[in-house]
Amino acid sequence: SNNMTEEGKPAPTNPNEDTIFGKILRKEIPATVVYEDEDALAFRDVSPQAPTHVIIIPKVFISQLSKAKPEHERVLGHLLLVAQKVAYNEGLDDGFRIVINDGPKGCQSVYHLHVHLIGGRQLKWPPG
Ligand code: IMP
Repeated sequence: SNNMTEEGKPAPTNPNEDTIFGKILRKEIPATVVYEDEDALAFRDVSPQAPTHVIIIPKVFISQLSKAKPEHERVLGHLLLVAQKVAYNEGLDDGFRIVINDGPKGCQSVYHLHVHLIGGRQLKWPPG
């Protein structure tokens, strides 16, 4: 149906254009920010799939993981350490999951690279 994928998510926007996460970075639209530093921002997902569902993004624009370059190595590692901090702050001491969706087959819907941090309930494997 209308501008939605099979998964019921919004259809992807043009990989080269600004995204809703860019607007969140520039504080043009509100978000519930749980962590911020010079290189990354973490905020709650508007459609949480678990009690904790946080989106962690780099401040530098990278559309998707498959487009990341060697120069992004440091920031990519940083995103995982931010995920670790937020998981600790959320009390996810029995485990959690991080996910990076890439491209149409990976169900990526926002083309600004992001890590999902999901936890607070027993997760299942494999994902769909
Ligand atoms: P993707 O499907 O891996 O690209 O993840 C995009 C995520 O961003 C989805 O889980 C959406 O629920 C979430 N999302 C979309 N728009 C917003 C927003 O404005 N604020 C917070 N999360 C959002």
